[in-house]
Amino acid sequence: MDASIAETLARIEKTGNFIGGRFVAGAGEPCPVVYPATGEGAAVEAARCGYEIWRRTPPAERARILSATARLLRERLPQIARLETLDTGKPLQETLAVDVTSGADCLDYFAAQAATMTGEFVGFSGEEGDWGYTRREPLGVCAGIGAWNYPLQIACWKSAPALACGNAFIFKPAETTPLSALELARAFKDAGLPDGVFNILQGDGRIGAALVAHPDIAKVSLTGETATGVKILQGAAPSLKHVTLELGGKSPLIVFEDADIDSAVGGAMVANFYSTGQVCSNGTRVFVHDAVREAFIERLLARTHALKIGDPMDEATQIGPLVSAEHLEKVNRYIGIGRGEAKLLHGGGTPRVSGFEGGYWVEPTIFAATDDAIIAREEIFGPVLTLLGFSDEDDVTARANATGFGLSAGVYTRDLSRAHRMMARLQAGSCWINTYNITPVELPFGGYKRSGMGRENGRWAMDAYSQVKSVYVAMNAPQYPY
Ligand code: NDP
Repeated sequence: MDASIAETLARIEKTGNFIGGRFVAGAGEPCPVVYPATGEGAAVEAARCGYEIWRRTPPAERARILSATARLLRERLPQIARLETLDTGKPLQETLAVDVTSGADCLDYFAAQAATMTGEFVGFSGEEGDWGYTRREPLGVCAGIGAWNYPLQIACWKSAPALACGNAFIFKPAETTPLSALELARAFKDAGLPDGVFNILQGDGRIGAALVAHPDIAKVSLTGETATGVKILQGAAPSLKHVTLELGGKSPLIVFEDADIDSAVGGAMVANFYSTGQVCSNGTRVFVHDAVREAFIERLLARTHALKIGDPMDEATQIGPLVSAEHLEKVNRYIGIGRGEAKLLHGGGTPRVSGFEGGYWVEPTIFAATDDAIIAREEIFGPVLTLLGFSDEDDVTARANATGFGLSAGVYTRDLSRAHRMMARLQAGSCWINTYNITPVELPFGGYKRSGMGRENGRWAMDAYSQVKSVYVAMNAPQYPY
């Protein structure tokens, strides 16, 4: 372990929270129970103070600080990527290429959006009569609750638009992955963000629930499981909070007979094995047209066999361990179910990784199944690809949509009309043609059906962290009816 990581770990052990611009210890217990536990109360109070400063800060200045934070994340990329790998087990080649840079890209994008918080002139009475205008204003103190698969990226996706709009923010990382958000806090501070504008509260779901229930918090944005999303909606109801939910999925990836098969195989692998399958938008139901099924399977098995599993800190490694022993148990349970209901084509076992015998390893796994299989219906959140066959476009569309989830979908075809027809027919919030799982910050991201509510990213995120005020301007003395 290098010195900078050891130093960060030591600091976090003593000072896991970031409140009012300082790294501070929790309330004495590892996870304070419920509001108003000391740590949590202090974070809301600090955020309220931060909000009073930040909402008055000109958008151009907010933009400058967000851009400076992005620059610091890029400068600190090697250390932060190693920290993220240490926390999540994801291969360094991923955390170097995606996790930190996508967070920095997000901060840059919303820096540019800060000045777009404009209103509209609304004329309704002719040249000399009354008129109106709209103002777009922040919501107040907002809270973000993160999942463990992309800890830094999630913290940026939520905090960057919130801060661009002039809100203060409290972020609760998943308890499994508390580290990288603190590096984001440090970058914000070094970039000149006023104290209290961005805060971190560590803890488990109870801290999340306390934030959701807190009367002084105006909005909550969750990335997590559908069941947690339901609890958050219920918890937010009494105080009528704004809510954004980014939840789970069981997304279809459809390979037509005219597709570029090598590209489709690459897409299916990225859609199932990247981050060891721990990606919400994964295309875990891979529908392959019967006419190309044999060729597709042959190439998929050969390329999956060649994947390099090993030391996550080795930049050549493509597949790391799962995030925790608990999660490994869940994924292995599904693989066990799959063995009973589907045909195992590849993997299913525990790889032997020399020097890392105690890790949470699972092989990239491929099953051939039918739609009614449990592994084809439930989110596994591991490297488990389920192959399904089809021969007819209408049939595969109906089957792709026959799920309660609706996060993502992808099609591989060279037929332009078919590609766009499918885009219109698939019930999912984030879709791809001839690629998979590319999520640039410029495009909105979020789910249909039980995969979520609201959108992150793009200009839509600015709407999600602000509210509109309408102002009526009387130009002449009004004629009252009394
Ligand atoms: P969880 O829903 O278990 O946890 C998400 C966060 O919510 C964690 O910080 C957790 O705290 C917290 N939490 C748990 N219970 C409550 C509660 N009652 N009130 C408030 N907060 C609570 O999800 P995972 O961390 O297991 O992440 C995996 C899931 O996230 C998958 O379903 C995946 O599909 C989804 N996901 C969705 C994405 C999207 O953008 N749509 C992206 C990435 C993942 P703690 O864990 O500390 O107890």
